[in-house]
Amino acid sequence: MTEFAVYKTMLEEQLAKIVTELKTIAVHNKTTDDWEAIPDTEEQNNSADENTEADVVEDWNERRAILSALEQEYQDLKRALKKIDEGTYGTCEIGGEKIEEERLLMRPEARTCTKHMEEEDLLSW
Ligand SMILES: [Zn+2]
Repeated sequence: MTEFAVYKTMLEEQLAKIVTELKTIAVHNKTTDDWEAIPDTEEQNNSADENTEADVVEDWNERRAILSALEQEYQDLKRALKKIDEGTYGTCEIGGEKIEEERLLMRPEARTCTKHMEEEDLLSW
């Protein structure tokens, strides 16, 4: 277990950073472990004319996109930390081989080895 201590520290630091960013635009639902976007009420209250309303929608979509990227990262990090606890960390989820150390140092939340990295996006939760 101690061999993964360095990755665990990296993952925990990254997770803390992501949570801080998420908290600026979303609320954590502890039951589902999901993040729900906070509508920008201040801007909405000022949306008297159509132009402003369009801006709000655009802003909202942008916020949703940022949120979904951050949430993905959040889930990846949580998953990797869980794998460390379960003792399955560092194993490719596609081929079952050991993930290269260089890859884990670059991206500790990686779920596949370098050979299978293009297929990583196809993996479901
Ligand atoms: Zn692999």
